[in-house]
Amino acid sequence: MKEIYNNIYSINITSIGEFDCCVYLIDTQSKDGLVLIDTGMNINSILKINKIGFDPIHINHCIITHGHIDHFGIANELKKINENIKFYAHQLDSNWIEKKGYEDKNASSYLDGDFEPIRLEKHIKDSFGTLKFGDYELRYIHIPGHTPGSMAILLEIEKSKILFGGDIIGCPLKLMDGDLEKYKESMQKLLKLNLDLLCEGHMGVVRGMKKVSNFISNCVEMSKYLHNVLEVDPDNKDYWYNLCVKQYELKIYDNALDSCNYLLELDPINTKAKKLLKKIKKHNPPKFEFVKNYINEYFKYIQY
Ligand SMILES: [Zn+2]
Repeated sequence: MKEIYNNIYSINITSIGEFDCCVYLIDTQSKDGLVLIDTGMNINSILKINKIGFDPIHINHCIITHGHIDHFGIANELKKINENIKFYAHQLDSNWIEKKGYEDKNASSYLDGDFEPIRLEKHIKDSFGTLKFGDYELRYIHIPGHTPGSMAILLEIEKSKILFGGDIIGCPLKLMDGDLEKYKESMQKLLKLNLDLLCEGHMGVVRGMKKVSNFISNCVEMSKYLHNVLEVDPDNKDYWYNLCVKQYELKIYDNALDSCNYLLELDPINTKAKKLLKKIKKHNPPKFEFVKNYINEYFKYIQY
């Protein structure tokens, strides 16, 4: 738990392989109380806010950046703590959050997560708009691509532009209604904002205008490679190697490990990949087997 800006906190540190997400908290210092951006998957991380003097019962609002289970999976548990908590998400992802039967879309079937649907207070329908809590004006921006209803939340305070981006690193996957072209357009929209601080959904906080824009551009590059290997040509070894390098540069070590292991299965004597694998393993990433499952599922899916 860390204060990343006045009255804004990062609640947990996580990685993709852990099946959780980064959760952020804003203390509105008003009767609106505390606002969460996403819920993550671990109620204990949220309960720890009492260590810095907050009571979880004062979490009155929660904005869900998109309808993947790792971003809203414990919403029902938050509701048990404060039955008046209100949840907000984009209309286009709302079924995945409010209903059963969308487990392939909200990723709970891939991530082994069971979930309780919850009712949203508001279905956001516009491309831009504002949710006001106390003096805090949170501007939502529809950024389709990773999912149809992905949203980023922009907060401008003291001349700083802070963005809660959700899954900026998340490659849009067709099986979950992702769309690479829309994702690229959405990222261009974000790059134009000249952000000072990015609070990302799995990678934590990126600070400084230049670093934020490099990070977003690298995510776009990485997503293109990932799209190519998962959905175009899973046998192309150069694509795989480029992808591993980009994931390593972005410090997404669990994904880099997964991709590198896959590449070495295709091409066991690839010396560049072996070298890179050694470098990746130094960071002790958790083992995360996504690639093989996804490729199997995807090629099954396009046969129909
Ligand atoms: Zn996601």
